[in-house]
This record gives sequence, C-alpha cells and structure tokens, in this order.
Amino acid sequence: MRVAVERERCVGSGQCELLAPDVFEVDDDGAVRLLQDDPADDGAVRDAVQQCPTGALALLDGD
Ligand code: SF4
Repeated sequence: MRVAVERERCVGSGQCELLAPDVFEVDDDGAVRLLQDDPADDGAVRDAVQQCPTGALALLDGD
C-alpha cells in the first residue's frame, strides 16, 4: 500500500509511530517520515492514517 505524507501538516504527536513503528518515525525535526515506501497492508497503517489528528497522512492508489 502507498502512503502520502504532508510533513508541513504534521505536529509530531507520534500517534502514527506508536501504531506502526516499522512504517512511521517522527524525526529530529519533529515531523513524520516514512520508513518504507510500500508498507504491507496490516491494518495498523490504516489505523495510523485514520487517527492522525491533523490529516497529514493519506492512503494512495485507492487503498
Ligand atoms: S499522527 Fe499525524 S501529526 Fe502525529 S506524528 Fe503522525 S503524521 Fe504527525
């Protein structure tokens, strides 16, 4: 599955990293970055996208 990240919308809450630490990481700048270009669809990634408080994450390709 493909995930889009808008770093400028991220507030560094770390929610996504908590839910899917293999896929998301809040870096030293306090903004999220993707650790995988094409992560497995395991539900945790979807939860992270849906629960991001600022809408900084989105699923691509109709996933
Ligand atoms: S949940 Fe959203 S706001 Fe929080 S660190 Fe992840 S992308 Fe940023």
